[in-house]
Amino acid sequence: MPDNINLEHFWMPFTANRQFKSRPRMLVGAQGMHYITDDGRRILDGTAGLWCVNAGHGHPKIVQAIQQQAAALDYGPLFQMGHPRAFEAASALVSIAPEGLNRVFFCNDGSEAVDSALKIALAYHRARGDGLRTRLIGRERAYHGVGFGGIAVGGIAGNRKHFGPTLAGVDHLRHPLDIARNAFSRGLPEHGAEIADELEQRLLALHDPSTVAAVIVEPLQGSTGVILPPKGYLQKLRAICDRHGILLIFDEVITGFGRLGTAFAADYFGVVPDMIVCAKGLTNAAVPMGAVIVRQDIHDAFMAAAPENTIEFFHGYTYSGHPLAAAAAVAAIGVYREEGLFDRAAAMAPYFEDAAHSLKGLPWVKDVRNLGLVCGIELESVPGKPTARAVDVFLKCFWDKNVLIRTTGDIIALSPPLIIDKPQIDELFGAIGDVLKHQQATPSPEAVE
Ligand code: PMP
Repeated sequence: MPDNINLEHFWMPFTANRQFKSRPRMLVGAQGMHYITDDGRRILDGTAGLWCVNAGHGHPKIVQAIQQQAAALDYGPLFQMGHPRAFEAASALVSIAPEGLNRVFFCNDGSEAVDSALKIALAYHRARGDGLRTRLIGRERAYHGVGFGGIAVGGIAGNRKHFGPTLAGVDHLRHPLDIARNAFSRGLPEHGAEIADELEQRLLALHDPSTVAAVIVEPLQGSTGVILPPKGYLQKLRAICDRHGILLIFDEVITGFGRLGTAFAADYFGVVPDMIVCAKGLTNAAVPMGAVIVRQDIHDAFMAAAPENTIEFFHGYTYSGHPLAAAAAVAAIGVYREEGLFDRAAAMAPYFEDAAHSLKGLPWVKDVRNLGLVCGIELESVPGKPTARAVDVFLKCFWDKNVLIRTTGDIIALSPPLIIDKPQIDELFGAIGDVLKHQQATPSPEAVE
């Protein structure tokens, strides 16, 4: 590690800070499919950073766009003012969004975008004189960022339990992961669409449906272990929301920008939500940015309700539509289009799927599930150590194989940049397979977090 680095000041996010310090993993560079470590190793990026660097690292067109923007207009307020890049970025995003979703509200990341979408849902109903709709429905094991709205609708106890009360009036549906019935399914699981019916049962049994504002789901639950929607499940959610006048929000922070081989998961599933929350790949992660893409008539309801020449939606951030982020978004969406990266992901998905399922039968492997260029490999846990085996694989891949994977619980999650080629897919799954083949009966002590 470089001598000038002091580990005593930076409080690292979502990190076992003390464990990290005993063996720091430092990234100092990145290009294309690879990270460079401080000891000069090239690490194959099997996770696109945190599911976000979809066009690969350091894309020259995105780098150049950011540099030029920084020199031309570093910052400009967007409250009652404008700058061209923000408008261009909104139009670029609408150009790849599902039809009908054509208004964009910019934020700085996924968490802010989730909270903004929830606020839009609540305020939309009020604007239409339907202000009793205040309840929100999320799902177990959902990750919707770390804002107070996001942790409330999210389904991860650990993200909530340290902070006391969050939002009132939130319910959680069961998640649809059912390994007993769907283990090693390729693509969408066959079984489990009926779990969506629980939404209607809850609405009718527990609440007056006319008190529910919105249902929010990740079309594919990513960071809690790649939980795929069973065939027909999202269609059912859409139909139930329609029947009861409830908005359906897709959190596409992970699935947006080609992860499933289409611009958005909404396109893949043929289910159009009322709002899409996105971030990460929006700028290819080069500058933080999030967005809510909203159906035109939702936007119009705000315009119609507010008196002439008043602010229609009391919400925004200093850095909403920041010029550098907007420039990066315009460039990233241009790169996705010019290089056909969404189609490329779709074309590569069957090879990725075969490689993922080649791990079936290896020690510890309990389930493999995949869609597009995302895959989850669930391991049998050691009793009492629910993360140990996956962390063990992670550490061995990083230190011995020069491959970056991601883990959650005892699940390995892979989501490489969309530019990955076949030899790199072989390298990625080959490294994991090799580690699993040579697993020890118990994970190394370092692996136990
Ligand atoms: N929603 C989903 C589905 C996510 O996966 C994430 C981040 N992994 C977020 C929201 C939060 O995004 P951010 O970390 O940019 O706030």
